[in-house]
Amino acid sequence: MSLIVHKYGGTSMGSTERIRNVAKRVAKWARAGHQMVVVPSAMSGETNRLLGLAKELAPERPDTAYYRELDMLAATGEQASSALLAIALQAEGLEAVSYAGWQVPIRTDSAYTKARIDSIDDARVRADLAAGKVVIVTGFQGVDEAGNITTLGRGGSDTSAVAVAAALKADECLIYTDVDGVYTTDPRIVPEARRLHSISFEEMLEMASLGSKVLQIRSVEFAGKYKVPLRVLSSFTPWDIPIEEEARSGTLITFEEDEDMEQAVVSGIAFNRDEAKISVLGVPDKPGIAAQILGAVADANIEVDMIIQNVGKEGRTDFSFTVHRNDYARTMDLLKEKVAPALGAQEVLGDAKICKVSIVGIGMRSHVGVASTMFRSLSEEGINIQMISTSEIKTSVVIDEKYMELAVRALHRAFGLDAE
Ligand code: ASP
Ligand code: MG
Repeated sequence: MSLIVHKYGGTSMGSTERIRNVAKRVAKWARAGHQMVVVPSAMSGETNRLLGLAKELAPERPDTAYYRELDMLAATGEQASSALLAIALQAEGLEAVSYAGWQVPIRTDSAYTKARIDSIDDARVRADLAAGKVVIVTGFQGVDEAGNITTLGRGGSDTSAVAVAAALKADECLIYTDVDGVYTTDPRIVPEARRLHSISFEEMLEMASLGSKVLQIRSVEFAGKYKVPLRVLSSFTPWDIPIEEEARSGTLITFEEDEDMEQAVVSGIAFNRDEAKISVLGVPDKPGIAAQILGAVADANIEVDMIIQNVGKEGRTDFSFTVHRNDYARTMDLLKEKVAPALGAQEVLGDAKICKVSIVGIGMRSHVGVASTMFRSLSEEGINIQMISTSEIKTSVVIDEKYMELAVRALHRAFGLDAE
């Protein structure tokens, strides 16, 4: 007998009809002899609906009192879907019980709207499992030390499921979603994209942080830290497909480079349009400049991604970095009005119409020439590279946004990822 955690996203929970299907699928697993814990998201659209109501009453303001109420509000979405699923499971003839985050409890810090899980008490859930019940735990939420309800950030139910699986030392955590696994790249951009049977945890972490939206990045971090076997699979298969077939479907996130791992040098191409590029030109080339520019940006709570400093010439140098596009205007103002004058910089230039395209693969550790293949295939398409950054298992470039799809397709082909 194994202990299995299922996570169902908002689309899978989107109507009573779909909730009934989830219940039938969970019942199939329970009847096969597994101990089952289920972590659902809110019904699709519900979190947006609730947060929209709040905005109608008062525009978003960055203060704790307001954010506390947003969490109080948004957490009801998962509470409703969890109770509905318990009711549906009971109707299938199973014993089922649902718990809100605070009832487990799932303890978090007090960072409303982006809380982090500190600990999960497994006693209550274990007792129910031992009594033969299916246990449903709300996704996306927890409780802080003072008893306030918190939420984990949008898409946070993935993290809830992985954290619950870690706390219970589950045999596997299955993330049911509206795609049938992790692809070499987004099939909407490259129709030849292929589903990966497995991907290493490190590659998944890079893919998630570079813009692949399949899993919330924190859930991948959690899975890595606690070595939770994780599988992403489709919730749109018929609920009554054979359980052995279902258990092998989707994409498994693995921790070892075993022989089952697909032997590609590059496993996937990630991209995102969420960044903007800023250059500070003609800054004095002396110690402390990077700290002054990026220090001011960090003090304004703006996250920086890629950073490049040029070789100095005649005592001056140029400094470029990227920020989230939402922070672009604010960062430009800050640099133009405060930082550049204080430093004696000559000019501040910005471009929000860029994108970042990345190749990811643990094979890059042991193969040379991977980055040069990337640069060559971009140049063959006439695409100019504006910035480059590398790590052990990825190379990212910043290019003009209008070439994004072309670049992704060219790279997908160049690294042999197109399906035959
Ligand atoms: N319902 C929450 C959201 O929409 C959490 C989740 O779906 O994972 O972000
Ligand atoms: Mg989600």
